[in-house]
Amino acid sequence: MKYRELIENMTLEEKASLMSGKDYWKSNDIKRLGINSMFLADGSHGIRKQSKSSDRIGLNTGNPSTCFPTAATISNSWNEELAERIGEYLGQEAAAQKINVLLGPAINMKRNPLCGRNFEYFSEDPYLTGKLAAGYIRGIQSNGISACVKHFAVNNQEERRMVIDTIVDERTLREIYLTAFEIAVKEGKTKSLMSSYNKVNGTYANENMHLMEDILRNEWGFNGCVITDWGGSNDRIEGLIAGNELEMPSTGGETNEEIVKAVKSGRIKEEVLDKCVDRLLDLIFTTENALSKSDEKFDIEKHHRIAQRVAEESIVLLKNEDNILPIRPSKKVAVIGNFAKEARYQGAGSSIVNPTILDNTLDCFEQSGIVSIGYEPGFDRYGKKDKKKIEKACELAKKADVVLLYIGLNEYVEVEGLDRQTMNIPENQIELLNALYEVNKNIVAIISCGCALEMPWIHKVKGLLHGYLAGQAGARSILRVLSGDVNPSGKLTETYPINYEDTPSYKNFPGKEVSVEYREGLYIGYRYYDTVGKDVLFPFGYGLSYTSFEYSDIQIKDNSVIFKMKNSGKVAGMEISQLYVGCKSNNIFRPKKELKGFTKVFINAGETKTVTIYFDDKTFRYFNVKTNKWEVETAEYQLMIGASSADIRLIDSIFVKGTEVDIPYNKDMLPSYYTGMVNDVSLEEFENLIGRKVPVSTWNKKEKLGYNDTIAQCKYARGLVARASYYVIVLIHWILKKSGERDKANIMMMSIYNMPFRGISRMTGGIINMPMLDGILMIVNGNLFKGTAKLIKEKNKLVRRSKK
Ligand code: BGC
Repeated sequence: MKYRELIENMTLEEKASLMSGKDYWKSNDIKRLGINSMFLADGSHGIRKQSKSSDRIGLNTGNPSTCFPTAATISNSWNEELAERIGEYLGQEAAAQKINVLLGPAINMKRNPLCGRNFEYFSEDPYLTGKLAAGYIRGIQSNGISACVKHFAVNNQEERRMVIDTIVDERTLREIYLTAFEIAVKEGKTKSLMSSYNKVNGTYANENMHLMEDILRNEWGFNGCVITDWGGSNDRIEGLIAGNELEMPSTGGETNEEIVKAVKSGRIKEEVLDKCVDRLLDLIFTTENALSKSDEKFDIEKHHRIAQRVAEESIVLLKNEDNILPIRPSKKVAVIGNFAKEARYQGAGSSIVNPTILDNTLDCFEQSGIVSIGYEPGFDRYGKKDKKKIEKACELAKKADVVLLYIGLNEYVEVEGLDRQTMNIPENQIELLNALYEVNKNIVAIISCGCALEMPWIHKVKGLLHGYLAGQAGARSILRVLSGDVNPSGKLTETYPINYEDTPSYKNFPGKEVSVEYREGLYIGYRYYDTVGKDVLFPFGYGLSYTSFEYSDIQIKDNSVIFKMKNSGKVAGMEISQLYVGCKSNNIFRPKKELKGFTKVFINAGETKTVTIYFDDKTFRYFNVKTNKWEVETAEYQLMIGASSADIRLIDSIFVKGTEVDIPYNKDMLPSYYTGMVNDVSLEEFENLIGRKVPVSTWNKKEKLGYNDTIAQCKYARGLVARASYYVIVLIHWILKKSGERDKANIMMMSIYNMPFRGISRMTGGIINMPMLDGILMIVNGNLFKGTAKLIKEKNKLVRRSKK
């Protein structure tokens, strides 16, 4: 232990006190030993350090900081170096605000396009996610502070996120849901990691020994700290045993006392606590050392320009019929759509940033060189139908050569804590498009949202640009792409199915009651569509440029694949090329191809460059559930170089001598997994895959409600008061929505409706403790008088104790 002497000087109570927060954002201090608090703050694409420290639930606006494009946007750049630079700037801003631990990046997989937090996540591919995340982490930590990669692990839906039990087979867990974390730990060297709220195969992630000890510590060698997600600690002692160093936020000392008791009673050995304290001290001391040297200011303008450059590399050109883009200077343009006036540039929830500057399209238009003949909003941002707005927009469109139509999703749809309901844009925007199409066929749509959409209307637009959520300088970046000042080079990092129903997890998303079954196994995103040959709207890895690239001369070397790439168009540009690997043997089921490398190169018009993509330990590996290890199958492998997952330009094969182990599967028992047709796997076959019985996924409504049941379950509680409260919540939510208080309505769903009862104690900083919660639960379960008496008695006890 690094800090043995210091730890030996601590009382048991002091050690325990370090294991949970001091308030919502700080860790505890021990002044007499010179141990200070650390400050932790969100987040993923900008800093959210709240100006008012008194805020108990962490909802106050943060100090101004640069709002970079969200991860879903930046991932489209496929540029690890750029990710590292963003990380550097994020880290610099965090250090300037004296933040020890920056809570990001968020790297969960996009299992399903409706997950409410997809805007904050990178991709449906673990390799790409891991590489970009490692870049972020290196960048953030180059400032001496700590990144906190999150949410570990398998946190892929927002509905009931604090209690849902994710049922997933071991191989899928390793290959799809953990690989990005593995890269973040091994290559990014993250100093801290946030455990997720959910359960994984029956045990809360934060207490899951398999995840936290076998894999994270023992296999990956992680020696940093694990921090709970906010309010995500279920059993503090189990969490500590599994190696969780810090529970956040504060529980008013309640769980520290539990730790003291557990050590005294022998439930936990003091050495286990000491080890956690040692690792936490290291995090505190190393980061505060860096903070003492950091500048208090950062260059706002410079960071804004970086945010713009990053967005420019991340915008994806999806359609360019008749080369309608870039807009020629002679063209008269009508600007239509509310999003042109008020940019949609980030998502909602804990990642929300208070930007230092905000570019809106209309304000930046003049500088773009594009000639505008006017602006019309065309639709109501929140979906209300308005014929007048459409008529006015059409009048303007009639006079224009080209219509720039700014559409997308509003800020209340893509939210932490809630999944989206559909993959559509609102109906009033589609009606507008239909009407515009009648008067002008030259429409270029610009989309603002952080996720994949269905586009049954796509034939009505000639040009289509997806800006994703491009951050505070996004509007200007988009204009620079439209005008041709920037040649687009972004490519999608998630598949766009034609219909939502095509999604492999369609029948198993979200889990609504006890659990969610990942019956599609390995086949998420392109791994599914590509294997079964299902048509998609836009494949993974797709994106257009104003120039074209020719690929040639593939050569396979021992450690790499080399090929030539020529810019055969008229303008300079950047091309992202992707290495996919497919195994020719069918002994072990797997997707037809999987991403194993990528590069992005800048090439001048007419120039040819030689490109190399190196192999690594992940190129040929698969996880063998029998040997419980990564293995390589001896087989012939196809190496495919693609401009997208569906546009393979070069192919060659290589024979690889692997590790000689038995095939872990019985083919006859897993027919869907061998064909990839996994959109309707039976329970029996899923059980064959995971090798055990799947727990019942529905609530047992006869049982009493307990700590880990959610407030939403009051609907069927035994107590009348609880049932009535349920309907009051639903009513208030409805009223808030109707009266336009969408933000409050969302927060209500996120932090009340979907909250487990234990959260009442875990999130109130000691105002309501667990014995009081027992009283509340008695009321919920029908013991109104006994429960109220208990509640009052425990409250009085607490007051008396705090007076002492
Ligand atoms: C989110 C985390 C976030 C934390 C603190 C949680 O609800 O899941 O991503 O870092 O809050 O704001």
